[in-house]
Amino acid sequence: MSQEKTPIPAGSNFIRGIIERDLAENKYATKKWAGSPGDATHQEAGVIDAAKIRTRFPPEPNGYLHIGHAKSIFLNFGLARDYNGICHLRFDDTNPEKESQEYVDSISEMVSWLGFSWNNGKESNLYFASDYFDVMYRAAECLIENGHAYVDEQTADEMRIHRGTLTEAGKDSPFRNRSVADNLAKFREMRDGKHPDGSMVLRAKIDMASGNINMRDPAIYRIRRAHHHNTGDKWCIYPMYTFAHPIEDALETVTHSICTLEFEDQRPFYDWLMEHLAAPTEAVGGIVKPGLIAQPVPKQYEFARLNLTYVVLSKRKLIQLVEEKHVSGWDDPRLPTLAGARRRGYTPEGFKLFTDRIGVSKADSWIEYTILEDCMREVLNLQAERRIAVLDPIKLVIDNYPETQSEDCFAPNHPLKPELGKRTVQLSKTLWIEREDFMEVPSKGYFRLFPDNMVRLRYGYVVKCTGCEKDADGNVTTVHCEYLPDTKSGTPGSDSVKVKGNIHWVSAAHAYEAEIRMYDRLFKNPHPGQGKHEDGSDRDFLEDINPNSVTTIKAQLEASLKDAKPAESFQFERHGYFVADRKESVAGKPVFNRTVTLKDAWQK
Ligand code: ATP
Ligand code: MG
Repeated sequence: MSQEKTPIPAGSNFIRGIIERDLAENKYATKKWAGSPGDATHQEAGVIDAAKIRTRFPPEPNGYLHIGHAKSIFLNFGLARDYNGICHLRFDDTNPEKESQEYVDSISEMVSWLGFSWNNGKESNLYFASDYFDVMYRAAECLIENGHAYVDEQTADEMRIHRGTLTEAGKDSPFRNRSVADNLAKFREMRDGKHPDGSMVLRAKIDMASGNINMRDPAIYRIRRAHHHNTGDKWCIYPMYTFAHPIEDALETVTHSICTLEFEDQRPFYDWLMEHLAAPTEAVGGIVKPGLIAQPVPKQYEFARLNLTYVVLSKRKLIQLVEEKHVSGWDDPRLPTLAGARRRGYTPEGFKLFTDRIGVSKADSWIEYTILEDCMREVLNLQAERRIAVLDPIKLVIDNYPETQSEDCFAPNHPLKPELGKRTVQLSKTLWIEREDFMEVPSKGYFRLFPDNMVRLRYGYVVKCTGCEKDADGNVTTVHCEYLPDTKSGTPGSDSVKVKGNIHWVSAAHAYEAEIRMYDRLFKNPHPGQGKHEDGSDRDFLEDINPNSVTTIKAQLEASLKDAKPAESFQFERHGYFVADRKESVAGKPVFNRTVTLKDAWQK
């Protein structure tokens, strides 16, 4: 995989071309759909499918969704939406271990959050692959009956050795030529729990000399005594993923089964299986039995998975980060899980822009994390109202302003959307300003506060700096100034005094002191864990954790932010985008998460 910086692709999507060709050829014009998944007989009794195409998003409920899944969700649900089709949400829960309801719930929630629904009119297209175990079992018997599968009793080691290599053909199993009757009997014994786990498997009978190792009689059913979250202890045999997945697609009459590139070498088996299960068979007495699955069969298309710099997108690594408590939980705002990204303040519209911008191709590459951040910035710039926040406060005292007075200033809520109006912010004698907005001895090109210099208090007056106070260590504690009464923003003649600097402030008497989590990247290396140590050993992704990925600060915010609702986003002027934490904010006392800075601070 290339680690070169990839230029931003033009957002092309080659799968659109395939769908448009298929639609132009009327490939699915006579496809039937009975309103629910099922075999050929079931679908044949249905009507011509109103959905022009069917896609599916098929997560395994063994973890939380991450940003990579967002690419797949926008692709599958997006194509269905664009081509008058339907996308199914299918939980691929054929593996009995590691799957749980908690994951099912959070996955459904995130798909909805991204703006998609599996409810189409009266029909809910939410499915569980484990509901198909009966048909999968019949499919296996169907292959056996037609001489296309056999029960193999070789040990796992023998099977591995006999599989051959990339350059050497494999070797036929001594069990390969069992009779159909023998195979059926053995397979039923497997199902009935007559044999221990791992003692035998059902294999497709294809070609042990195939150039594609996946076609060398792949295992399709194994014995595994495990409790399943949906089917309980009903089964002690479970289908292999490569066998189960195409059947799931076929039962749901999926037209375009879109998966990541790792499955490219599985496509010949996908097609082989679909062909053999759809083919009519001739039974005794010349009666032709229809195939088990409906025609036209689904087709698999592969695209490059999302690889994003500075994050890990693998469920195993994400689980490790959570379980070893490197982060606070699945929704830690630093994690690339969708639950974490949502808490961080990333938006569905930002993800949509991102997936459109990176496009869909067949070439693996790394996408720069800044592209994602830029998309979030672009969207938030349009969406988020402006507010004032002083993140590193020191006091500014306006010496010629009356002690007990305060007055209203008017700040626009959104510079691009005047219709959102203005809000009132109070000005008084003592203000909070940013520590970096004052320098006792200014550096070259510094236009903010320094003795005798004038700046504008944004939405307020022009002030002239008169000096500062310091503590025993020489740290500035308070800055002093005087205001020019005729210069208030928005009043006639206010711009008669020209100044170069413009700083933000909040009134100390009115400010809301809030907790703010300043989040940064969780990893300090663009490719966490890649490469070797000097002694030649492999590096681990945990070594690249950024020790400063979060700093919690106390900041002084304008009073209106006290009323921010959980999950509400704002631009804090001059700082970036912040969101009221959806989990830990209490009414009247929101805490904020930094979503993204205004500009990229990581660019060298
Ligand atoms: P992981 O490898 O992290 O365990 P997975 O691929 O096993 O992820 P699934 O739950 O099987 O996770 O994924 C559901 C769908 O999301 C699949 O169709 C898969 O191809 C897609 N997907 C997963 N990761 C990515 C990614 N990084 N980019 C694009 N699509 C992805
Ligand atoms: Mg998977």
